[in-house]
Amino acid sequence: MNEVKRPRKPLMFYYAIVLLALILFNALVMPFLANPNVTQVDYGEFMNMTNEKLVSEVMIEDNQILFKGKNDKLYRTGLMNDPELTQRLYASGAKFSTQIVEQMSPVLSILLSWILPMVLIIGVGNYFSKKLVEKAGGGAGSMMFGMGKSNAKVYVKSTSGIKFDDVAGEDEAKEILSEIVDFLENPKKYEAIGAKMPKGALLVGPPGTGKTLLAKAVAGEANVPFFSISGSEFVEMFVGMGAAKVRDLFRQANEKAPCIVFIDEVDAIGGKRDGRIGGNDEREQTLNQLLTEMDGFDSSKGVVILAATNRPESLDPALLRPGRFDRRVPVELPDLKGREEILKVHARKVNIQPNVDFGAVARAAAGASGAELANIVNEAALRAVRDGRKTVTQADLEESVEVIIAGYQKKNRVLSDKEKMVVAYHEIGHALVAAKQSESAPVHKITIIPRTNGALGYTMQVEENEHFLLTKEELENKIATFTGGRAAEALIFNQITTGAANDIEQATRLARAMITRYGMSDEFGMVAMEQLTNQYLGGDTTLACSDETSNRIDQVVRNLIAAQYDKAFNLLKDNAPQLHALAKYLYEHETITGDEFMDILHKMENPPALGVGEG
Ligand code: ADP
Ligand code: MG
Ligand code: ZN
Repeated sequence: MNEVKRPRKPLMFYYAIVLLALILFNALVMPFLANPNVTQVDYGEFMNMTNEKLVSEVMIEDNQILFKGKNDKLYRTGLMNDPELTQRLYASGAKFSTQIVEQMSPVLSILLSWILPMVLIIGVGNYFSKKLVEKAGGGAGSMMFGMGKSNAKVYVKSTSGIKFDDVAGEDEAKEILSEIVDFLENPKKYEAIGAKMPKGALLVGPPGTGKTLLAKAVAGEANVPFFSISGSEFVEMFVGMGAAKVRDLFRQANEKAPCIVFIDEVDAIGGKRDGRIGGNDEREQTLNQLLTEMDGFDSSKGVVILAATNRPESLDPALLRPGRFDRRVPVELPDLKGREEILKVHARKVNIQPNVDFGAVARAAAGASGAELANIVNEAALRAVRDGRKTVTQADLEESVEVIIAGYQKKNRVLSDKEKMVVAYHEIGHALVAAKQSESAPVHKITIIPRTNGALGYTMQVEENEHFLLTKEELENKIATFTGGRAAEALIFNQITTGAANDIEQATRLARAMITRYGMSDEFGMVAMEQLTNQYLGGDTTLACSDETSNRIDQVVRNLIAAQYDKAFNLLKDNAPQLHALAKYLYEHETITGDEFMDILHKMENPPALGVGEG
């Protein structure tokens, strides 16, 4: 395409030329304008000298009068409105003249006074901004591109050396992407057989699962340049800039092929075009340019486009058509094994005790993303430093899991004894309901030490074996467990508190999903009444049913939760002695492990038989 040979000189070079020119101008030209050998005199002096015939030559310029004395010295003076000047000069016998001002044609005058400078300014400006773009393309100094245009970086080269090894637990994604790596390494192999590589692959998944990391790893593995731009950088641009930037990105990529173009957060530009007049014109232009570029380039050259998004539902369908991002790479939250591997990858970078059980940490960190796991390791290292230790321990990691899940311990928040007691019963309420149902994840830890996220205490359940298919019974049990805290408060204190807000929210969400999406209610059966609009970001839903149905759904949700609450309440009532004993124990110890909890429960329910073992 654009095969112009570009000089690769540092930007400083051009600045130096301009500087040099200025210095030369000052040194060589200015002296003529202000020649120190010309004596400046006032107009009176000039008149005297002419009157006394001491002047030999006079030159009247349009802003001054230059004259030479009979003494051969040069003088100058300002112009005056002096109608008799000519007369007097003539009388003085001096030679005198004035500049001949050429009468320019009006066209020429406009040309010279306006257009020429403008052309110069634009020309020079263009020249330099082009240099700046190239400069930005050269790696370091890409910030320079920010001058007056936009603050987007055009691309960064892959210098990070990130490899697939640095990405853990995303085996499926790595497998798909390794084909792209292979293609970038041996395009000939694919060409020979007539196979066309997909032009683009779209990495989709929740935030922090390693999409950006994977894209970098592809470039690192294939050892090719990595052009990256983030969709959000386009948003704040001036009209037309986004499209220009896309064009520029692809032009550069074409010159550097084989290479990778990575568009992060592609949903920022690739969102659905809504067809409204006066919609987001700029974004549409940018998207259109992207589509045009993707169609226009020849993938056999070895330019592979990767993009990442956590909102795949919002992408314009045009982006997903064959020949564009036709390959979809799911980058999901890691499973138990994945979490363990990710922890290990990040533990390589810190000083960690050799006997750490990463599996246990991974189990406790259910639902954590790669970014959160990286954070957990770092948080553990920080904790070790705070304690003045040289290595990270299992306990550091486990505390960090809680920090990431629930925030830091708020040691300075003091609960009143009464509050502490209520929280203890509330938490044991959750734990006991969970323990008394067969299909519930075991209790791992219970604490009533407040956390910075606002929780006054919490019960941590850890699944022994992660599984992905949940039965209706398991879901109902979860709801019952959520309601267990409030049920305990009501049962013991005959009073309810604000402490259950989060439980209520989670129970409601789950109950709704059971009815509107999982087809688990007798009333509606297998009818989808809600659609997930934001699969990876909080799971927002839109209702797709009539108002009447919607009202009925609310009713069914209420009934479902109420039934589970009743179940929880009765469970606690039937096990009141255990509830009291455990709450008292928690109140005294503030944090207890799942083992301690089960131990107490067990001992109460299976008292050692008297007389056994006695002689
Ligand atoms: P995304 O782009 O999906 O939001 P990132 O790639 O930006 O996530 O991940 C952020 C950070 O989290 C990475 O730099 C890395 O330290 C860590 N991380 C995320 N996923 C993984 C993973 N699968 N393996 C190792 N580290 C990961
Ligand atoms: Mg990212
Ligand atoms: Zn609760």
